[in-house]
Amino acid sequence: MPPAKKSRELDLSAFPPGTVTEYSTLLCLACIFDLFTSQLGLAPRTAYSEIKRYAPSIEELTAPTAVRPFFDSEEKHPHCPYCNAAKRWHSRLDTFRIEGVKSTDTARRALAKSLPTKDNQFQFIETRSDRRSLFFDWLDTQRGNLDLENESWLIDATRSFLERLEPKHNWSEVFADLRSVRRSQRLEVGWERAGSRLFLAPSLYNEVLVVQYLISRSHTHAGHTFEGRITLAELIRRLRYSGYLGANEIDESDQFGILERLVEKLSGGSARTKLYYVVDRRNFLEKVKSVYSRYAT
Ligand SMILES: [Zn+2]
Repeated sequence: MPPAKKSRELDLSAFPPGTVTEYSTLLCLACIFDLFTSQLGLAPRTAYSEIKRYAPSIEELTAPTAVRPFFDSEEKHPHCPYCNAAKRWHSRLDTFRIEGVKSTDTARRALAKSLPTKDNQFQFIETRSDRRSLFFDWLDTQRGNLDLENESWLIDATRSFLERLEPKHNWSEVFADLRSVRRSQRLEVGWERAGSRLFLAPSLYNEVLVVQYLISRSHTHAGHTFEGRITLAELIRRLRYSGYLGANEIDESDQFGILERLVEKLSGGSARTKLYYVVDRRNFLEKVKSVYSRYAT
């Protein structure tokens, strides 16, 4: 009996929320075989062994818009947008990006140890980035995952932000059956849950507003926050009146300079950080093999 599909999925439950980003893309093997055999003139056998070794770059695997021979599709039975090949020619490549922060160290080592090394079923790639770029990636991920048409995204974004700030805290407990998030009149730091409401210390609440603004700001330069739809100038005015800018010594005069400092504060700025990618090549290797056997016969 073949193993249940679920058991093939990587167990990432040991990683704190928000530290792993998942990317998935489809690769058309008909396009690739065609490239190697027709255009490069390789015999199918040679093409097969070349393709098996093929290791796409991180850019190709994580690109927001896939380029040939990669494509993205939500359809159940998609066709290759380039050559129209049917599903049996497609392989899926899943890529997991793990942030190289202390809270992921143990889980990351355990994961690497648990994965099979045979035939390069998994590929490990290390790169470097900085906190600022990671923060913008994180905002993009939020924008993609949250349903901005539904008001409840404001609370979901708050949770994601708090998870990012304190990955080890049990946030599912804090957010269970939560109805609203308020600015606390009492707390100086942190948060407290009272009934169905979550109260945030003013500085934390202000940071949530900035994050909501950044996630939802559109070409009209307005963002959607707990305080309604506000422009950057209105957001900055609120932060100034509540003392947030002063407390963080943000004294730039123009609004884009202020926004830059806010981003620096929230992201951790230019501090370097490591990124660990794990590419799941199992489906790719299986598909290359089955596609080759079609070619060879
Ligand atoms: Zn194709």
